[in-house]
Amino acid sequence: GLELRNIVKNFGAVEVIRDVSLEVNDGEFVAFVGPSGCGKSTLLRLIAGLDKPTGGSIAIDGKDVTGIGAADRGLAMVFQSYALYPHMSVRENLAFGLENTKVAKAEIEARIADAARMLEIEPFLQRRPGQLSGGQRQRVAIGRAIVRRPDAFLLDEPLSNLDAELRVSMRAELAALHARLKATMIYVTHDQVEAMTLANRIVVLRGGRIEQVGTPLELYNKPANRFVAGFIGAPH
Ligand code: ATP
Ligand code: MG
Repeated sequence: GLELRNIVKNFGAVEVIRDVSLEVNDGEFVAFVGPSGCGKSTLLRLIAGLDKPTGGSIAIDGKDVTGIGAADRGLAMVFQSYALYPHMSVRENLAFGLENTKVAKAEIEARIADAARMLEIEPFLQRRPGQLSGGQRQRVAIGRAIVRRPDAFLLDEPLSNLDAELRVSMRAELAALHARLKATMIYVTHDQVEAMTLANRIVVLRGGRIEQVGTPLELYNKPANRFVAGFIGAPH
């Protein structure tokens, strides 16, 4: 499991994350929601190890990782902007970062084949990202996380660049992926329907603080305040 204890993050004099504590169980699908600028991406980057908290600690499976870099946390991040390498083929993008590790060549090939099948990107393996649609690129970005076999996936608005129709079909794919991989997923989204349909628990953030944490049903039936109710779309 993942444990955040009293996390604070300042950028200069500005407190962007204010005393956030949260536990995420193994295999759980947790959504971070909240208005633009409330600190969702910052919190995800702190969990990923891409940035260091100003205060507080982060533990994974009981081990303190606060001072440990991203590469050693066993997590994989998927960004809204895909962050694919434009000069590499899809296959090379998937393999990148695995090639200089302990993972054997045959195992890398097997993982790529498996992810390509799962995400239906087999026909594009030789293409470059620039020759793909947005939805296809996003699949590759998710595939790149899958081949690393992370303990947890950190997804920052992975569907926000897609059109409405594709978002709905990718939402179903993500649910299937979570069911199949049984990995922890922490999922940042603006879209409350996505959060309500995908997540086991939803974390509502405002101004760098947690307003409420609960299952979709709990938040809908018992929103802590008008802000949560408004955000979740519950009657209030
Ligand atoms: P959005 O929904 O728009 O993506 P968010 O909830 O992900 O918003 P963050 O990107 O986490 O918000 O930003 C939280 C706050 O921290 C914002 O006010 C932002 O301007 C500020 N911030 C983020 N990164 C930095 C940085 N590197 N330096 C200074 N301020 C930053
Ligand atoms: Mg963000």
